[in-house]
Amino acid sequence: MKCKVCKGEAFIKFPAHNAAFCEEHFDAFFIRQVEKAIRRYGMLSPGAGVMVAVSGGKDSLVVADVLSLLGYAVRGLHIDLGIDDNGFSAQSREVSASFFSRRGLPLQVLDLRETFGMSVVEAGRRFPRFCSLCGMTKRYLMNRTAAEAGVEALVTGHNLDDLASALLANVLRWDLRYLAKTLPVLPGENGFARKVKPLALLSEREIAAYAGVHAIQVVTARCPYSTEAKFLRFKRVLNDIEDQSPGTKRRFYEGYVDAAHLFQTSGGVQGGALRPCTVCGMPTSAEVCSFCKTWRGRR
Ligand code: SF4
Ligand code: ZN
Ligand code: ZN
Repeated sequence: MKCKVCKGEAFIKFPAHNAAFCEEHFDAFFIRQVEKAIRRYGMLSPGAGVMVAVSGGKDSLVVADVLSLLGYAVRGLHIDLGIDDNGFSAQSREVSASFFSRRGLPLQVLDLRETFGMSVVEAGRRFPRFCSLCGMTKRYLMNRTAAEAGVEALVTGHNLDDLASALLANVLRWDLRYLAKTLPVLPGENGFARKVKPLALLSEREIAAYAGVHAIQVVTARCPYSTEAKFLRFKRVLNDIEDQSPGTKRRFYEGYVDAAHLFQTSGGVQGGALRPCTVCGMPTSAEVCSFCKTWRGRR
């Protein structure tokens, strides 16, 4: 197997692109795919200030790495959830902090125990669906911190597998509200930060290979509350189709983005008919938002 560019020994093969690359030319290919997504979907202006939501997993660290290489002013936000089992939160925080410090990039750590007096585990005791409380908490704090920081966008590490599998799940349900949220760019509106996904055109395998080439250390501890990863079934189905017909996953996602105007709901992508929370001022459909009810004990 030879590198498509230099004909040297290839270390990775991509049937979807009908190509194989050596490490050096894989790197160039990977960065070009990020640049392409940014340009094609109008994600960021050159050198823009961005806040990257950092979990310590490969996607968030890789997107921070590439954006900083491309000259964007990257700062990170890590939320310490206070999950002690498996050393999950401690390791996630340590891995994130050490990556940002080695790259000389600023990282803001928001510790739930320090800031709100309890961990997500303590807050979750009253909730039957633990992960939805955790997800709501992370989304709220990321939105709010990015808006306060005045950055051009909040960046997340969602990749092609995440987006295509979520898209497939939403298409099978014809869930129009969620269909709009699978876009690579969500506008800043209704009090929500602008959100962009620069890894939208890259697969998990490609991102893992980039992390390997750059020796990026990622969190290995598993959250004790994670059951099956979200949309795993749909990821498997798409991977089966991809094996038979390389390139399908990407064509499925790109085709959807091209036709996304057909799926817009009234009131904007990030939620219409919202009003400011009477406690914190963030958008909500109730008088007091779910975050303030949970973390500030307001009813
Ligand atoms: Fe939070 Fe659930 Fe993810 Fe654990 S698996 S970090 S509890 S959303
Ligand atoms: Zn090469
Ligand atoms: Zn609120």
